[in-house]
Amino acid sequence: SYNELKKSTSNFSEISQIGSGGYGKVYRGVIPGGQMVAIKKAQQGSMQGGLEFKTEIELLSRVHHKNLVGLVGFCFEQGEQMLVYEFMPNGTLRESLSGKSGIHLDWKRRLRVALGSARGLAYLHELADPPIIHRDIKSTNILLDEKLTAKVADFGLSKLVSDSEKGHVSTQVKGTLGYLDPEYYMTQQLTDKSDVYSFGVVMLELITAKQPIVKGKYIVREVRLAMDKTDEEEYGLREILDPNLKDSTFLIGFGRFVQLAMQCVEEAAADRPTMSEVVKTLETMLMSDG
Ligand code: ADP
Repeated sequence: SYNELKKSTSNFSEISQIGSGGYGKVYRGVIPGGQMVAIKKAQQGSMQGGLEFKTEIELLSRVHHKNLVGLVGFCFEQGEQMLVYEFMPNGTLRESLSGKSGIHLDWKRRLRVALGSARGLAYLHELADPPIIHRDIKSTNILLDEKLTAKVADFGLSKLVSDSEKGHVSTQVKGTLGYLDPEYYMTQQLTDKSDVYSFGVVMLELITAKQPIVKGKYIVREVRLAMDKTDEEEYGLREILDPNLKDSTFLIGFGRFVQLAMQCVEEAAADRPTMSEVVKTLETMLMSDG
């Protein structure tokens, strides 16, 4: 239970740093019982404190789904804030796509990664109680477990980032820029359709392996341009296809996948599908392959 964990956080063994991110440093450790975990230690002042924080975290630790990185526990003592997650041995989707983790995702695996993360998000939007808007969907927040099952990380966290941190817009928003719902600029509000937009950008990454912004150019616009060049959208896009996918002679459901991604990144939120519609379409695509 969470209480036990709280008492035992000083007992992590085999701690080593594995990364750092928007909230602070990330360590790998083993908790009593032997489970390997990722420990996120918040930088001083980077997160809100107090009761609100605790209530929120307790809520998040009750959200469980196969495609969400589980919060195993947390520690909140003497100004030190730690979030403890299940460990994802195969790193982030971004690392795989940029060839840094040594994992090659063939097309079919990419479809499964899309479907898995879509299911995780649909769960947050429709079945979590209360519903959760992720607000920070990106390829570094989609992690892969030992079976390459995709799990969405960091849900429910962005609203806990303290106001002082939000002031440093450069660090907070930079990593997220290419993923941001265009309607946010008008409404200043993030909705479940904002997550759909960000998810669409991730789908474009699965196709091209490119980051959302390359040399100041937005991938969404690049893809639109490539598609405009030809009536047959599949062939227009093959130009910007991830070179690692090019030896595949046939990519199952490719045209439909592209179409779905482009619906997700529609300018107007109302024109985007919901996450469960996305799930249904991806399921049909994978099923038709048998
Ligand atoms: P960001 O703020 O960029 O999302 P995070 O603080 O979430 O970064 O994580 C930083 C890095 O730590 C990630 O890029 C990933 O490599 C690693 N990491 C985070 N969570 C986990 C986890 N649950 N299992 C394994 N590695 C993780």
